[in-house]
This record gives sequence, C-alpha cells and structure tokens, in this order.
Amino acid sequence: MTITTLAVRSTTVGPNSGVTHSEWVAFVVLAVASTLHLECARGIERRRELAANTSPHTNLKCLWIFAALLLLPLSLVIPLVVLSYTYSWFRVYGRTIAHRKVFSTATYILASAASAAVLRAGGLLEAPRVPTGFWSLLVVLAAAATWWLVNYALVIGAILLSSPEATAREALGDLSNQLVVCAGLGLGIAIAAVQTSYPWVVPVLMVTVLALHRDLLLPQYQRAAGIDNKTGLATSSYWASAVPAELARADTLRSTVGLLMLDLDKFKEINDTYGHPAGDEALRAAGEAIRAEVRNGDLVARVGGDELAVLLPGAFESEVLEIAERIRERLVGLTVAVSTTDGGTTTLDGVPASFGAAVYPEVASTMDQLILAADDALLTAKRSGRNKIVVARPNQPADHPALQADKAPEQESAPETDQRLTP
Ligand code: GH3
Ligand code: MG
Repeated sequence: MTITTLAVRSTTVGPNSGVTHSEWVAFVVLAVASTLHLECARGIERRRELAANTSPHTNLKCLWIFAALLLLPLSLVIPLVVLSYTYSWFRVYGRTIAHRKVFSTATYILASAASAAVLRAGGLLEAPRVPTGFWSLLVVLAAAATWWLVNYALVIGAILLSSPEATAREALGDLSNQLVVCAGLGLGIAIAAVQTSYPWVVPVLMVTVLALHRDLLLPQYQRAAGIDNKTGLATSSYWASAVPAELARADTLRSTVGLLMLDLDKFKEINDTYGHPAGDEALRAAGEAIRAEVRNGDLVARVGGDELAVLLPGAFESEVLEIAERIRERLVGLTVAVSTTDGGTTTLDGVPASFGAAVYPEVASTMDQLILAADDALLTAKRSGRNKIVVARPNQPADHPALQADKAPEQESAPETDQRLTP
C-alpha cells in the first residue's frame, strides 16, 4: 500500500481542502514545539549522532511525530517529518551526511504511514485519536509498537547494507537507545492528550520534555563526550578515567585486565606519500578493524597520534595474545580506499602495527606500571622489526626508569621481554 493511498484513507480530507482549523493550529503548535526542542537539544544530539557510528541513532524527535499522528491527518504528519529533518540537517547534524537524513526522513514517513494504518484499522478514524477507553488504548499502543518496529527494522536493514563490516550487535544497538524511542512515543501520546484538552499546558510540558531529554540522554552524552572525533574511539582522557575503574573492578572480582598498546608502523609514510587526509582514513579504518575484533565490554581508545590502546577486562595473557594476533592479522590484511592529494584515489594494502601487551595484576600492581610495561613491550616490538607482538613479563615494569625510585634493591633485574606470536 503506498503512502499516498494511506494518506487519503487515513483522513476524510485532503491536504488543502478539508483540514480543519483546529488541525492547522495543532500542526503549527507541533511544528514550533518540535523545532524549539531540536534547537535546545542540538548540542547533545550532535555528539550522540557522532557516537552512534554504525549503531542506530535514536532520539526523542518521534514524540512530536507520534503526537501528530494522533492529532493530524497523515497528509500533515509527512510535512512535519520533512520539516523536522530539514531543520536538524541544517542546524544539528551538518550538511555532510544528507543522505542519512534523507533515509531517516523516509523511515519516519513509512513508520508513520504503517502506524496510521493501524489506527484506522482499529477504528480510530477521527482526530483526536487519543485513548478514551480500553480498546482505544490497545489500538494506540499497537500503533506505537508498529511505528517503533517499522522504523527499527528499516534502520537495522540500512546499517547492515551500508556497513557490511558492522556486527549484528552494533546494528541492533543498545537497549537504552530503544527505550529512548519508547519514551518518545509515550510522551507523544501524553502531548496529544494534553493538546486536545488543555492546549495551554503544552508550553509547560515543553520544559518537562527538555529536562527529560537532558536526563534521559545524559549518560549517552557523557559517553559521546569521550569519543575521539576522527576515529570514533574513546579519547585518551576517557581512557585515563576508565583504566583505574577497571583495575578496581578486577581487584574486587579477583580478576585480570589485559592491556594492548599499539602503534601503527611507518604511519608517517602514508601521510608523506598520499597526504594527511589519507592518513586520517587509514587511522579510522584501523580503529574500526580493532573494534570489530574485540567484545562490546572491551575499550578501544586513541591515546596518541597513531597510538591506540585496547583494554580487555577479564582477559588472561593467553587471551590477550590471541586477540592481539587477530588484530595484527586483520590490520595486515586491511585494504583502505583513500583519497590522494592530487584528487585521485588509491588503495592501501595493510595498515600494520606493533603491539605491546601486559596483564594486570600479573606484571603490575598500578595503572602506571601496567601502561609502562605495555609501552616498553611496544618499544621492543618496534625495535625488533615492527608488525610484532611483545608481551611484558612480570619483572619488566620494575625496570622502567620511571619506577626506579619505588624499587627495592633486591627487585632489580635486567629487562626481559617474551617475544611471541611474531609473524
Ligand atoms: P613507527 O613505525 O616508528 O611508529 O613510524 P611512524 O611513521 O608511525 O612514526 P610515529 O609513530 O613516531 O609517528 C606518528 C605519525 O603519525 C606522526 C604524524 O605525522 C602522524 N599522525 C599523528 N596524528 C595524526 C592524525 O591525526 N592524522 C594523520 N593523518 N597523521 C597523524
Ligand atoms: Mg607509528
């Protein structure tokens, strides 16, 4: 069934001929309110979108659209969706990812059309279609569930088609993201009911919506604030706060924490040969490749220019080395299409890296010792020819000059590294 057919059937009036005065008023109120909402929340939204990467990006925008579905004919809901996305394209997300916004607009329209069909099938033909009894409540909830399902399915499908490297878990996204949509749909029903009976309460509810937006999405915002813009990995400051927390958790659980420090090999040559933007693309591809090889609970961070770190809570030395080898192989086999300074494109065959590995508490009893141990091992990997993995042995951190002050004389020993898994 096409959208046009649904539009005609979902209302007895056409877009210009029979839209009632009160529907036009509701349209203007919802358009103004949703625009104000977008404008006030755009700082948070921009960062959340960036953090979403290959996972679905959800927001509370659907609350205005669902309220509109209950108050307006579909022929007015569609312009509201277009208006909302056009505004956010200009003001919130920047113009570079227009195709994503066009796709999101289409998914919103299709979800709204499907939802309007459910309302109609349930007998809620006349606006306002707010619940006034058990049956109408069921119909409205079914319409909300349909809206959610159609939108979610289309977004997941698009992610899997456009990013074949995205894992199923990435494509499905966090449950908390879907709760955001549920919260939005629920608020949409409330806004529609209030606008029907007490329209002057809507501006008051706006304050509630904005406060909820901030509180509901604050944890995600904070997570997004720790995301490196270039690679989508965690920033070094986020990393610095996450490591002590993980070590403390390992102490409580009597568990381990594996650490991998990686530095891309001869990365400067990519910049010098093809230009800095090509280097950026290689760096981003390397970050994505690493993320694809680790679990969700592992943390991958960009801790320096071409230096990356992977924190592996609960991993023993053998697992750390296994993961390191998987990443090493993946980076060696990576092909990255990059743009060159002369305006052309070329393909990089492999973005190899050297690895230093260390495991807490085996080789270190503090965060600084652990990082120094992994850094030392990384240096050894570089010196021994690059594209290698070196694991720090238990006595290694004590040999680092920075730790000399803390070291008891009997602990002194020659630096020792155990070179393993070299290709
Ligand atoms: P090595 O094998 O010894 O690591 O050689 P390398 O060329 O990778 O040298 P090194 O790690 O010392 O230098 C890192 C280089 O990475 C220096 C800098 O030009 C480049 N770099 C750092 N940050 C960025 C960035 O954000 N983008 C790009 N394109 N290059 C960066
Ligand atoms: Mg390097």
